Amino acid sequence: MTTKKYERALVWFRRDLRNFDHAALHHALASSRRVYCAFIFDKDILDPLLAWGPQDRRIAFIHASLIELNAELGREGGGLIVRHARAAEAIPHMAAELEVDAVFCNHDYEPAAIARDREVALALERQGRRLFSFKDQVLREKDEVLSLSAKPFSVFTPYKNAWLKSFGAASGEPDSSLLPHYDCTPAAGQLALPAPAPAMPSLQQMGFDECDLQSINIRTGMSGGQALLDDFLTRIGRYRTAREFPAVKGPSYLSVHLRFGTVSVRALARHAMDAMRSGTGADGAAGWLSELVWRDFYFMILHHHPRVAEGEAFKPEYDRIGWEEGEHADEIFAAWCEGRTGYPLVDAAMMQLNRTGFMHNRLRMVTACFLIKDLGIDWRRGEAYFARMLNDFDLSANNGGWQWASSSGCDAQPYFRIFNPITQSEKFDPEGKFIKRYLPQLAKLDGKHIHAPWLAPAMTLEMAGLRLGSDYPRPVVAHDEARKRTLERYEVVKKTTIVQSG
Ligand SMILES: Cc1cc2nc3c(=O)[nH]c(=O)nc-3n(C[C@H](O)[C@H](O)[C@H](O)COP(=O)(O)OP(=O)(O)OC[C@H]3O[C@@H](n4cnc5c(N)ncnc54)[C@H](O)[C@@H]3O)c2cc1C
Repeated sequence: MTTKKYERALVWFRRDLRNFDHAALHHALASSRRVYCAFIFDKDILDPLLAWGPQDRRIAFIHASLIELNAELGREGGGLIVRHARAAEAIPHMAAELEVDAVFCNHDYEPAAIARDREVALALERQGRRLFSFKDQVLREKDEVLSLSAKPFSVFTPYKNAWLKSFGAASGEPDSSLLPHYDCTPAAGQLALPAPAPAMPSLQQMGFDECDLQSINIRTGMSGGQALLDDFLTRIGRYRTAREFPAVKGPSYLSVHLRFGTVSVRALARHAMDAMRSGTGADGAAGWLSELVWRDFYFMILHHHPRVAEGEAFKPEYDRIGWEEGEHADEIFAAWCEGRTGYPLVDAAMMQLNRTGFMHNRLRMVTACFLIKDLGIDWRRGEAYFARMLNDFDLSANNGGWQWASSSGCDAQPYFRIFNPITQSEKFDPEGKFIKRYLPQLAKLDGKHIHAPWLAPAMTLEMAGLRLGSDYPRPVVAHDEARKRTLERYEVVKKTTIVQSG
C-alpha cells in the first residue's frame, strides 16, 4: 500500500461539480488516506440573490447537479456533505469537525471569492490545517501567457497566438497531450462520509422555488454536460458558419456547464485540439477553441485588472461619458429588459434571456450595443441585468462582453462602430425564424418586413393581423438619430485621447 502524506482531507467543491478530471479531487486522493467531499450553498452569495425573488435557475441547476454528483460519489463509497451556511465559516468548522489535515479546492478568480478563500485559509492556518488550491477551471491562467516583454496582454490576437504557442502550436496545431488529465479514481474505502449521511438542504429550505429546467431544455449535471458535448461534437466542423445564426443549432450551449464545472474545460479543449490535428472538422474546431481562449483571456484580464469588477472602464477615459439618466432613461431601460423596444431582434433576444436564462452570442452583442449606443444607457446597468438573468453568468466574460460593446474594454470594438439593429436582423435572422419563436404576434409578417414592422405598409400589417402600439410596440428610438447622439456622446473620449496623446 502506498503511503499518503495526510490521514484525512476535505475537497471543497465550488464551481467544479464533477468527479472526473478534477484537479483538487485528484490531488486530495493522491495525498490523503481518507477524503471527504463538501459543497456549501454560500449565504454570502445566496442571500443577495433572494432579494430578486425565490426563482433562480442557477441555484436549481446547482442543486440538481449536486444530487447527481452525490450519487456518483456514493457509487464510489463516498458522498457529498452539503450545507447552507457562510462558506468562510462553515469550511474551517467542518475541517475541524472531520479532523482533516488539509482542505483542497480549485482556484476562483473573482475578487469576492479570492477574499473568501483568504479568510478560509487564515482560519484553517489558525487551526494548524492547510488550504491547497489548484488551477482547474481555465486552461491558461494569471501569468502563464505573457508578452515577450513579460507583460500581460491587453489585445486578444497576440494573446491567442502566445496561448497557442504554449501548447506547442508553433510547430503545427496545438498539442492536446500538453493538457493534464487528472485521474480521480479512489481506492476502495478512500472516499469517506460521516455517519449518518447528512441530508442535502432542499431548495425550499434555502428560500428558493423549484424550477422546471427541463421545460426550457436545460439538462443538469455531468450527464447533461456530456450529452451536450456529444451532440456538439457531431457538428463541430460547421461551428464557424453556423454559430452566427440564432435560429440555427450552431454553438455548443455548454456555457452553463463550463460555469459550474459539470464539464472539464480540459476535456473540451482536448476534443478541439485533436480535431484540429486529425483534420476532421478542423476549421470549426479551431474556431471553437478560439472561444475557449477568449474565456481564458477575460479571466486573465480580471486577474490583472480587478478594478473592472468595481465598475471601472478598462480604458479610464470612457468613464467620462455622460449617460442618459432620469425617468425617461428608466422607462427605456425597462423596455429593453422586458423586450418592448419595438426592434424585433432585440426584443426576441431579451425574451429568450428572460424565459430561458440563455442568450445567443450574436444577440448578446446586438442587445448590448443597442442598450448602450441606441438608448444611451450606461453599460453597467445592462451588465448588472445580464448578471442577474444569465444561467452562465461569469463576471469575467460578462464584464468583457459589456466593455467590448461599450468600446471601453481592452480589445473592444471602436466607439464609432455602431450596430444597426435592422441590418443585424436581416443578416443573422433573415427569415425571422428566431424572432417568431419568441414574438409569436409577428408570426405572419414576411422576411422582408419582420425586421422593422413600423416600416411595413398598413395593408401588410393588417394582413398579418398586427396592430402596432397594441400587439407590438412602436420603436422607442429612431436608430439614425440615436447613432448621431452616440457619436456626440463619445466625443469626450476622442477629446481625452487627443489631449492625452498631444
Ligand atoms: C455582452 C456579453 C455578455 C456575455 N456574458 C457572458 C457570461 O456572463 N458568461 C459567459 O460564459 N459568456 C458570456 N458571453 C460570451 C458568449 O456570449 C457566451 O459564452 C456564449 O454565447 C455561450 O454560448 P455557448 O456555450 O453555446 O458558446 P460556444 O460558442 O459554444 O463557445 C464555447 C464556450 O466558449 C466560451 N466563450 C464563447 N464566447 C465567449 C466570449 N465572447 N467571451 C468569453 N468566453 C466565451 C464560453 O465558455 C462558451 O461556452 C457574453 C458575451 C457578450 C457579448
